[in-house]
Amino acid sequence: MYHEELNEMRRRGLVRIVRDRDCTATLSSGGTARIILDGKEFLHFSSNDYLGLAFHSDLIAAASAALDACGTGAGAARLLGGGTHHHRLLEKQTAQFKGTEDALLFNSGYTANLSAIPALAGEGDIIFSDELNHASIIDGCRLSRAKTVIYRHCNADHLQELLSTEQGKRRLVITDSVFSMDGNIAPIPALSAACHNSNAILYIDDAHGTGVLGGGYGVLRHFGIPPQDRIIQMGTYSKALGSFGAFVAAQSEIIQWLLNSARGFIFSTALPASAAAASLAALQLVETADSCTARLWANRKLLVEGLSILGYDVSRSETPILPLFVGDIDRTLRCSDYLRENGIFAPAIRPPTVATPRIRLTVTAGHTQGDIRKLLHVLEGWPSAHCP
Ligand SMILES: *Cc1c(COP(=O)(O)O)cnc(C)c1O
Repeated sequence: MYHEELNEMRRRGLVRIVRDRDCTATLSSGGTARIILDGKEFLHFSSNDYLGLAFHSDLIAAASAALDACGTGAGAARLLGGGTHHHRLLEKQTAQFKGTEDALLFNSGYTANLSAIPALAGEGDIIFSDELNHASIIDGCRLSRAKTVIYRHCNADHLQELLSTEQGKRRLVITDSVFSMDGNIAPIPALSAACHNSNAILYIDDAHGTGVLGGGYGVLRHFGIPPQDRIIQMGTYSKALGSFGAFVAAQSEIIQWLLNSARGFIFSTALPASAAAASLAALQLVETADSCTARLWANRKLLVEGLSILGYDVSRSETPILPLFVGDIDRTLRCSDYLRENGIFAPAIRPPTVATPRIRLTVTAGHTQGDIRKLLHVLEGWPSAHCP
């Protein structure tokens, strides 16, 4: 039934590869900076565990204690008694961390966007969305039935123009804080000013900013913007915070509204308490010690300097996400294979996920300087650094 479509994808080199379906995969007990495929260890340069917290002893201890106390599954949605003090504590701590009155947990970043966006905007409302926003935002907009207007990537002038011509009951501007495939940061001060001028709400998906930017506090702290009533901050615990689940942080009335109307919150089983407990431990680590953030940025600096010497232009990225453009789909796949043959795991990202194929490198605090040098050394042997 789907044979022809699949064959067409195969012909164009676009079928997706899930390595752990084809071999025995595990993350090394040393952390997520290493992945073991069929018993062979590779340096992992595509993990979003930016601070290397997924194997941190504090997170593991907190999760284990919660497992013992609360079991493996929550058994019910929050509204039906699936929540524990771990869930509520995490919400309170997240609100404090993000400088908002309250926060609400969701089961993943994907479901947070799919649930919160349709709760915040519906028929008669207008959503303004950056053209390169994450798939979960695009899907949330589609589900909302609000009119969705796309503004040019990171272009606050275009947004302002659209805001002055498009009138709706409620107006919601949505942006990634860090664009997950390019590593650039949205111009939040300019976007926020445009929203302020037009009485619109700004919804920021801080999935790759939380734990990474602004000393770990996220994109608002990065720009020195105080949290305010018009700004809604969404983020995940699954990336830099080394755990699982997601949150929306905002003023109490908005959280109350989401609790009453976000379908992915109402109609889905609560996160396991162990995940909430691990997330809480991660927030505490980011708040008390910034050494892992410092190591992350030192590692990024080392990699960026090395890549520049090799002739890769990574100047568009301002974060640990560093895309390498090595040619068309076929060449990008070959580059990824070459890296794997040399002990480096970094998959090719292709259309339709991105318009231009690339190797999406991520560097984390879990990498050693030796790991980064090894990657650079292997890349030195790849002939096409200078060919776009
Ligand atoms: C990863 C990501 C999500 C989804 O988060 P999960 O917790 O992995 O479901 C949402 N938005 C952006 C921008 C992301 O990069």
